[in-house]
Amino acid sequence: MSSNCENECDPSHCSLIGDNCKLTYNESCVPLDIPEDILNELVDKAKDYALMHGACMRSKTAFDRDTLQFAPFFLLPSAFPKREFERVVKFQPIMNKLIHHVAQDYEFLKKCLKKTIMVDDFTSRLWKIYETVRSEGISQPVNLGLIRSDVMLTQCTAGCCELCQTPPYVTSHQVEVNTIASGFGHMGPVSGKLHRYILGELGKEELLSKLPENNALEALCDGMIEAWKIYGNPKAVVLFVIEDVTYNICDQRFHEFEIRRQNPDVHVIRRNLTEISKRGKLTDDKRLIIDDKEVAVVYFRAGYEPAQYHTDVEWDARLLIERSLALKSPTISYHLAGTKKVQQELAMPGVLERYISEEESKLLSQLFTGLYSLDLHPEGDKAVEMAIEYPEKYVLKPQREGGGNNIYGEEIRTVLKRVQHSSEREAYILMDRIRPPILSNYVVRPHEPVKLIDVVSELGIFGVIIGTKDKIMVNKNAGHMLRTKMSTVNEGGVAAGQGGLDSVYLTD
Ligand code: ADP
Ligand code: MG
Repeated sequence: MSSNCENECDPSHCSLIGDNCKLTYNESCVPLDIPEDILNELVDKAKDYALMHGACMRSKTAFDRDTLQFAPFFLLPSAFPKREFERVVKFQPIMNKLIHHVAQDYEFLKKCLKKTIMVDDFTSRLWKIYETVRSEGISQPVNLGLIRSDVMLTQCTAGCCELCQTPPYVTSHQVEVNTIASGFGHMGPVSGKLHRYILGELGKEELLSKLPENNALEALCDGMIEAWKIYGNPKAVVLFVIEDVTYNICDQRFHEFEIRRQNPDVHVIRRNLTEISKRGKLTDDKRLIIDDKEVAVVYFRAGYEPAQYHTDVEWDARLLIERSLALKSPTISYHLAGTKKVQQELAMPGVLERYISEEESKLLSQLFTGLYSLDLHPEGDKAVEMAIEYPEKYVLKPQREGGGNNIYGEEIRTVLKRVQHSSEREAYILMDRIRPPILSNYVVRPHEPVKLIDVVSELGIFGVIIGTKDKIMVNKNAGHMLRTKMSTVNEGGVAAGQGGLDSVYLTD
């Protein structure tokens, strides 16, 4: 890694961050001066590989149910230090366990969210469902967690911390942990396959050993099938709760195909919340029946954002599911345990130790960057003041999932000045902005010429956990995914077009 920051500052504490301060990895797996004719031929092949292996989405701009487009992707795998990759993979079962135990702790969730639910209607409605099913008695004690913890590398300087006594001078910081609709179980592995093919075409077979194995799809589907077996009715189906329009269709369908491959007895049905409300019912013994099919497992790929609940009808569907005997990924308590507010509270001193061992707490806390409550108390006041003074150092997050909701830069100042003295600010949390090292890569987008651009990456580590309050039956790693985006954009959703599929190239 070389630095072209004139001040040789520690970027995580630098106020000149942004365009004025760039640390760059010069670690592309192949030189980035591929001659134009070779590049164009390679891109042509790579596009077809993507199209023919389901690295695709439906177009948002020209939606056509019968047509797929390849998803934007990066031509080469992105460098990621092996030490950091192995560290975050090792952490995942601990993260799974933490989320599982937090989700069983009603009092803690209530303490974390009591102010949030006063000012945030969406979280409040989720909370009401939780209270309702708790008061009625939880029908299904077994939880199915299909979790994804997202991290970015943070640039460090030599000797800045325990880990940075030797290169690489980077560490991993958690962006968030997802407990609902943790997608890309197919897109992650297929991106690795695409890159293996590309490196082969470039005659670089010797690099293939640096692309880690990725069993995300197998492991996540195995988790659903395990849950289906626990339910114990061989005729019951798996229900995918889907959006009204699914753009990320390949990712979802490949889960279905993989379930069929692993166990042909398991059938999958797909319904949106509106359909579930109209066509679903509970039997007296709480079995969930949709169109005469009994449901063993519910896998939410929707239901994480307010727009997916048009009216009370969709909320009724969520409650219906939650009341049922089906195993759910996630249960309402797992959903609540994955909120940004809970993530912020987990980073407070002494909290992790309540759920995992001291040694595990020490390891996990290395993943956390600064997270600050904006509650109406003196520490909250301090956080507001510091964000108004240095907005470029932070990200302001409401309790939302799915991308595009966070607030950055000057807008942080505007929003915080508006809500500074009201409880409205308690709907948000504040987080240190992570400044990952910048890499260069060729971006390939539909209908655009290939382009070499500056990028940053976000690694997602999947985990599967199945258990009751008292007993964990399954807790394991479940592969990974890498998304990369232009270094200049705040958020890089792949479907939104600012980001692209990528895979990991392990470096020393
Ligand atoms: P969502 O639930 O909407 O995915 P995230 O917390 O994952 O919310 O934020 C969305 C995106 O915003 C991330 O994928 C990342 O690109 C960017 N982001 C979030 N938090 C940070 C942070 N602390 N530093 C830098 N970028 C961030
Ligand atoms: Mg995210």
